[in-house]
Amino acid sequence: MAITHNLGFPRIGAQRELKFAQEKYWRGEIDSTELATCGKQLRSKHWQQQSPLDFLPVGDFSFYDQVLDMSFALGNIPSRAVNQNNANNTELDTYFRVARGRSSKDTDNSCIHAGEMTKWFDTNYHYIVPEFTQDSTFSLHSEKLLLQISEAKSHGANVKPVIIGPVTYLHLGKEKDTSNKLALLDRLLPVYQQLLAELANAGVEWVQVDEPILVTELDQEWKQALEHSYQFLKNSPVKLLLATYFGPLQDNLAVISQLPVSGVHLDAINAKHEVADLIKSLPASSVVSLGVINGRNIWKTDLSTTLNWLEPIANELQERLWIAPSCSLLHVPVDLESEEQLDPEIKSWLAFAHQKLDELTTLQTALNEGRNKVSSELEANQTAINSRHQSTRVNNPVVQQAVANITPSLGQRQSNFNTRSKLQKEHIKLPLYPTTSIGSFPQTAQIRAARLRYKKDQISESDYTLLMQQEIQYAVDQQEALGLDVLVHGEAERNDMVEYFGEQLQGYAFSQFGWVQSYGSRCVKPPILFGDISRPKAMTVKWTQYAQSLTEKPMKGMLTGPVTILNWSFVRDDQPRSLSCYQLALAIREEVQDLEKAGVNIIQIDEAALREGLPLRQSQWQEYLQWAIESFRISANGVEDNTQIHTHMCYSEFNDIISAIADMDADVITIETSRSDMELLDVFDHFNYPNDIGPGVYDIHTPNTPTQAHIVELIEKAAQRIPAERLWINPDCGLKTRQWEEVIPALQNMVSAAQTLRQQK
Ligand code: GLN
Ligand code: ZN
Repeated sequence: MAITHNLGFPRIGAQRELKFAQEKYWRGEIDSTELATCGKQLRSKHWQQQSPLDFLPVGDFSFYDQVLDMSFALGNIPSRAVNQNNANNTELDTYFRVARGRSSKDTDNSCIHAGEMTKWFDTNYHYIVPEFTQDSTFSLHSEKLLLQISEAKSHGANVKPVIIGPVTYLHLGKEKDTSNKLALLDRLLPVYQQLLAELANAGVEWVQVDEPILVTELDQEWKQALEHSYQFLKNSPVKLLLATYFGPLQDNLAVISQLPVSGVHLDAINAKHEVADLIKSLPASSVVSLGVINGRNIWKTDLSTTLNWLEPIANELQERLWIAPSCSLLHVPVDLESEEQLDPEIKSWLAFAHQKLDELTTLQTALNEGRNKVSSELEANQTAINSRHQSTRVNNPVVQQAVANITPSLGQRQSNFNTRSKLQKEHIKLPLYPTTSIGSFPQTAQIRAARLRYKKDQISESDYTLLMQQEIQYAVDQQEALGLDVLVHGEAERNDMVEYFGEQLQGYAFSQFGWVQSYGSRCVKPPILFGDISRPKAMTVKWTQYAQSLTEKPMKGMLTGPVTILNWSFVRDDQPRSLSCYQLALAIREEVQDLEKAGVNIIQIDEAALREGLPLRQSQWQEYLQWAIESFRISANGVEDNTQIHTHMCYSEFNDIISAIADMDADVITIETSRSDMELLDVFDHFNYPNDIGPGVYDIHTPNTPTQAHIVELIEKAAQRIPAERLWINPDCGLKTRQWEEVIPALQNMVSAAQTLRQQK
């Protein structure tokens, strides 16, 4: 008898109810009682939807982030957030202060800094990093979890609390002093022990303890910490299901098989090849939970193929087999049913959280009662799987042939950087310290209103074009007046740097409600890359050409790179990511060449998300970087020597990937550096990075105006590391989230800083 369970359900709500309630609370439009009610209703709805399962997750809901919730449950709260001289300060206020730097009750502007946020493993979810010091102490605050357990029980359900394991919790956190966080383990474990005892008192039988660090490379001391922790918790009065996800265990399989827990969950999508070994290595009494439905993508599971594989395992394990999605469903949209505009054929291939749980119960029935009990479900599933395999919308032989024909020469410029650089200097006349921007200018309410009216068919295409041209004209006039050297059209026509291209490429589909939480109240709606990618016609040329027609200054063409488009999409599971990336690269290459033909001399290809695609294990980085960089090169390098290729990356960690960055061979790279006082350029300096660099000279994420003196100082620091002849002057990132009133004075100071420095030469 296979048992079903779920590791976690998306908390935002099918209509993003949580987001809207959070934001209203932050604006002071609702009070904490109303926010709490929204949370309670969502939880109740989600448990109802999961009710066919044998065990429901509890503790997966959060008003901001589950790691932050764990910090609160463990009494590990940064002291700066607690003391606000405010008599009616509540725990919720403190909570949001750690999450966001302020709470709705902080009327003064004294903003305390928020907890650092970072990527949750290799997903696009971001968590609040726990903070540790040598003096960190822990104490149990389990009220919230216990309350939710009783809520869940009122649904008559078998509850299974979900907590982050002690070792992963420590591993994810950061020391704020020179201490070693591992030394805190012995202070932490008694609190976990107490928590487990309380859960047992609340009538809980099983607790899911998440230790996803088991799919990463672990030093010996962390492996020992795992052994030590679970030995310590061995006699707890509940059964522990140790959950791992996002990848194979590799050498950590030996660690896991020694841990005294009652069950182990393995991601059987990414570690299917380890299932047999895991079963063999676990004690004969252990529960084996297999994540057989992909919790990271939006595709239907091939149920018959899964059953062919799973049936013998179910026979062997009997009631020891649990089945579940591979990881929490936090990473997929809530419900496919709400989609009304998706093409019906494509829709028939998809499964969001609800549909994934339906698949799970179908698998369970087939395993426990025979396939004939669910023959119609299995048949419908097979029809959808076949339709996707065979669809001509998925398979485009011309594109497949083009990828097969890729040769290394496609990724190579005609000449090396030095030669190109000379030709470009003659062709595009630029001063020392050329000034430019990263691409976008403010996305004003006016721009968004025009786009919305166009989408709703309230204005014609030509009216819309006219409105966008006016915006471009405005942006060009402003840049002329500022005296910038390389201009941009401002990206007014773009809703989003990936969606804009996805909408024009064949092989992409868009959902209406396919939201996934990225952090806090922020949700993203990744486009769905479903088929071979082709570009029916030019995507950006007419806007850039129009912008160029308004000025004598060089106009930079602006594109999103293949790796970033890939990394911010739901991707195919029927071919390697690398293949989809090459297809995107060929499409962007065509666009680059069309821009060049249209007389655009400078083309920027943004790769904002290149780093995000790095695999969890460093041993796999090389393979990823190889195809990712090759894809960028294919997209960029089909141009003449005197065309200048720029790329932009809005982050600052280049230490471990600098040689790959150099391999991209972009003529100019613009990066984020202003907050680090240019120290981040050290890595470019030590590597002898050969091409031009535009280190961001001011932080666009704040409304503050940088002073001219500060910018001069930063550029001087940059020039100590990179020869002045190879430096560009630009902001850290695009300006779309700013107001024109902020942008103008900031850029004025930036341009005059460059002028001051030129005069000194
Ligand atoms: N060209 C884009 C812009 O200026 C780049 C955005 C980004 O790097 N995230 O908005
Ligand atoms: Zn950026």
